[in-house]
Amino acid sequence: AAVMKRKMKRDKRWAKAMEIVKEMEEKCGTPIGKLKQVADAMVVEMHAGLASEGGSKLKMLISYVDNLPTGIVLCVGSWWNKLSCIEGAVGGKDVGLVNQEFTEVSIPPNLMIGTSDALFDYIAAELAKFVAQEGQEFELPPGKHRELGFTFSFPVMQTSIASGTLVRWTKGFSIDDAVGEDVVAELTRAMKRQGLDMRVSALVNDTVGTLAGGKYSNKDVAAAVILGTGSNAAYVESAPAIPKWHGDLPKSGEMVINMEWGNFKSSHLPLTEYDHAMDDESLNPGEQIFEKLISGMYLGEIVRRVLLKMAEEAAFFGDIVPPKLKTPFILRTPDMSAMHHDASSDLILVEKKLKDVLEISNTSLQTRKVVVELCNIVATRGSRLAAAGILGILKKIGRDIVKDGDEQRTVIAMDGGLYEHYSEYSKCLENTLNELLGEEVSKTIMIEHANDGSGIGAALLAASHSLYL
Ligand code: BGC
Ligand code: MG
Repeated sequence: AAVMKRKMKRDKRWAKAMEIVKEMEEKCGTPIGKLKQVADAMVVEMHAGLASEGGSKLKMLISYVDNLPTGIVLCVGSWWNKLSCIEGAVGGKDVGLVNQEFTEVSIPPNLMIGTSDALFDYIAAELAKFVAQEGQEFELPPGKHRELGFTFSFPVMQTSIASGTLVRWTKGFSIDDAVGEDVVAELTRAMKRQGLDMRVSALVNDTVGTLAGGKYSNKDVAAAVILGTGSNAAYVESAPAIPKWHGDLPKSGEMVINMEWGNFKSSHLPLTEYDHAMDDESLNPGEQIFEKLISGMYLGEIVRRVLLKMAEEAAFFGDIVPPKLKTPFILRTPDMSAMHHDASSDLILVEKKLKDVLEISNTSLQTRKVVVELCNIVATRGSRLAAAGILGILKKIGRDIVKDGDEQRTVIAMDGGLYEHYSEYSKCLENTLNELLGEEVSKTIMIEHANDGSGIGAALLAASHSLYL
C-alpha cells in the first residue's frame, strides 16, 4: 500500500508539472496568423515613430548616416559588457578594408551599474592600451589626429553624426548620471583624462554599424538585425518618408533609421505570467518588452522561472526546491542552448548542465526531456517573433512582395551571439521567415551573417566623416 501511495503521489506531481509545461506552450503559441498581426503592428508603430518624436514606443532614431565610407580610422565598439577595438586602414571605395586589428575585453559588471565617469574612464583606458600596442602600419602621418568611430549599443538620440544623448540604458546597464548626457562628450572627456589625443567622428549604434559594414561589401543589404544579449534593427529608409526629419534632404535621398525595436510592444505579443514577473523585477520595467521575449539576455531566465514554478508547485526536482534555481539569471542562454542542442540519446549534456549550473543531480531521462522541451518552447517563441519583426521591416520598405519582372534581392545583415551560436533559434527564425514570405518572395530575401560587422561599419563611417582625410 505504501508503494502504491508513493507512486500515486509521483504521478500526481508529474501530471501537475506537465500541466505547467502545457500551459506555457499554449501561452507561447505563435501561429502564422498571430505573427502576421505582430508584423502589421510593427509597421504601424514604425510609421508612428517616424511621424513625430515620441509618437511611438518605437523610437525610430535618426542616425545621420546617409552615405557610404572610405579612409583610415580607429574604431572602438562598446556593446553590452564587451568592448572591442578594431583598427582598420581603409583604401578607396573599390579597395575595401585592407587591414584590421581587433581586440576584445569585457566590461566588469560593477561598472555596468556604477557612474558614468567610471565607465568611460574604463573605455578610454582600454582604448589607450589598444593604441599603445598597435602595429606600425597604423602610424598616422605627422599633423593628423586619430579618429574614432564609437559603437554605442544603446538608444541614443543623435544630434549629429558624432553626438547624441543617451535615451536610456538596456541589457542590465543602469548608470543614472549618464542618461540624458552626450555620450561622445563623456568619452572625449575621459580620453583627455587618459592623455589620448583622439576625436570621435562617428557615433554609431551597433545595428547601424552592421548595416554600414554590410552594405559596404554588398549593395543589396537593406537592413541589419542584432540578436545577441539585446536585440535591435536598423534599415535604410527613404528620407521623404520621415516626417519628423526637418533637416535638409540628404543627397542620397536616404537615411538609416535605428529602430530600437527592442522596445516594441503590442497586445498581439504572447506574454506569460513569467514574462510579466521578469519584467516587473527587471532594471527597466515596462521597457524593452520585445527584447525580453527574443534576446539572449532573457531566454534562459524565462526557462529558469518556469522550472522554478515546476519545482515549487509540482516538486519537479524532488521534495526540496533546488536553492540555486531561485537565483535570477543563473541559467544563461548559452547553457539553455547547450541543453537544447543535446543530441545524445540519454541527454548527458542536459544532466551535466543541470548539475553544474543549478546543482540538481539524479534527474531521470524523462525529466531531462521535459527541460529540453521547455527550452524549445521559449526559443521557438523568441525566434518566430524575431522573424515577424523582420517581416515588418520588409513590409515597410515594400520588399515583402515581388513585382513583375523585378530581379531585386534584399539582404539582411545579421549579427549577435544568439544568432551566431544558438542554431535551433536561427534555423527556426529562417524557416519562419520563409513561411511568412511564401516561396516566391523567400527566394529574393537573403539573411547574411555579418560577423562583427558593426565595428568595421563604425570604422568606415568614422572615416567618411573624418575632418582630416
Ligand atoms: C539596445 C540597442 C542595441 C541592441 C543590440 C538593445 O538593448 O537598446 O541600441 O542595438 O541592444 O545590441
Ligand atoms: Mg561574431
